[in-house]
Amino acid sequence: MAYEALYTRGRPKNFAQLVGQEHISNALTRAVISNRLSHAYLLVGTRGTGKTSTARLLAKAMNCEKVLAGQVSAAKDIPCNECASCKSIDSSPDNVEFDAASNRSVDDVARLLSTAYMSPLKSRVKTFIIDEIHMLSNEAINSILKLIEEPPPNVAFFLATTEINKVPMTIRSRCQVLNFRLIPQETISPYLIKMATTLNIELENDAAKKIARLAEGSMRDALTYLDQCYAMADKKITLADVNETLGLVSDADLDEIISAVQSHSRAEVGRAINHAFRSGLSSISIAEALITRLRDIEFENLRGDISDLDNFVDAVRKAILEMQGSGVPDIILEMTLMKIAAPKIISAVVAQPIAQPKPAPPPKIEVPKTETVEPPVEKAETKTEPAKIFTGNFDADKNIFYDIVKNSNQLTVPLQSAINSSVVTEISNGLIKLAFTKSSQAKAFNGNDKTKLENILTQKLGQSVTIETIVNTYLPNPNLDRINTQHRAFVDKAMKTFGADDFK
Ligand SMILES: [Zn+2]
Repeated sequence: MAYEALYTRGRPKNFAQLVGQEHISNALTRAVISNRLSHAYLLVGTRGTGKTSTARLLAKAMNCEKVLAGQVSAAKDIPCNECASCKSIDSSPDNVEFDAASNRSVDDVARLLSTAYMSPLKSRVKTFIIDEIHMLSNEAINSILKLIEEPPPNVAFFLATTEINKVPMTIRSRCQVLNFRLIPQETISPYLIKMATTLNIELENDAAKKIARLAEGSMRDALTYLDQCYAMADKKITLADVNETLGLVSDADLDEIISAVQSHSRAEVGRAINHAFRSGLSSISIAEALITRLRDIEFENLRGDISDLDNFVDAVRKAILEMQGSGVPDIILEMTLMKIAAPKIISAVVAQPIAQPKPAPPPKIEVPKTETVEPPVEKAETKTEPAKIFTGNFDADKNIFYDIVKNSNQLTVPLQSAINSSVVTEISNGLIKLAFTKSSQAKAFNGNDKTKLENILTQKLGQSVTIETIVNTYLPNPNLDRINTQHRAFVDKAMKTFGADDFK
């Protein structure tokens, strides 16, 4: 027999098996038993949280002979899966299921919906399960709206969406809304272990936890990851297997980096990060894994100072933005970690990395532990207080510059974005060189804007600052990443909405 994917095999067969959505299965069980089901449901939630599975269970339950005969009293019996209806519904022409994301031809949808006006052929209730409803055309939405408002007899709609804000209010207000939660790791992990035993394979606890964490609340993703590991495994799936199969940095490598940062030793940071680079993963993947690991520490070990931890996470997150589109992401990550490792910025952040798994192993090469390669920097740029003077370190000074730009309320938004579309190429002795990709941009900036920025910087830094603009058409894509996160999210959304490929 062909191997059946776990995510298909793991689908709930009744409401008792609907993992992680007990608030929904309880409410629906009550509604089924007391015969108070609605004819239109809107199932809302992230991918892989059980929306389609629930819709299928409901469709089945509405036609289940035992349910109709009032012979069920518990979630585990709904639907019964034994009666003729339950056994045939999957292939029944009365059970229409389609994904709006891949089935958007207006004619197709119209044809499918028009069958709602025909009586069911075999079942009691004709059911329509439509995934990603927000992707439908306006015409299709209107047809559905009409069907929901004046429903033909014996028709039920299950509309699923991952983006509720894109579903028109008119639809939302006429459906019973079911909100699916992200499934917690503590729920996913034991479920994975149980699924593994059905495959006659042992899934180690740490491995299950790691997969659960990666799945970020999606049971479907979790089962898909488990499937991938299963394909590569022998009799047992260990944490190392998960890391290797899914191409992840090991927690040990991440802990080594964290410990190195904590020890304020640049040499150790350098060693630890090089060790992680050897895994062959991109520096962005490593940085992202580092953030996840830091968050885990935050959750599991609340002894440390959270604000310090937040600074650590913030700095790495900023680095990721800078790394995207940069030709030297490795260096950016390394420099960022070195900077965080500088004394004062991070003190007792990671007082104790999580007890389990064990913190970083000692470096394999026994290098006599010379203190830091460089003496602790005197004037480390602190994350908590805006720096007041340039330090002489280009990277640090660049950040100071952009911090002032970002936080100045004297700069208009257009001016801020003009500055953000430039690149600082040099800072020395009060002279800042700003490079623009187009001479028109530089021209527009020179004049009042330039003077204004010079005045603000001079005032904030307490030293006279001059700005020189240059034009360099070979600059990398104007750095989107320097726009603040909120603005960035807005731009991303706009780009998506308008189908733009890039930000010009
Ligand atoms: Zn049944």
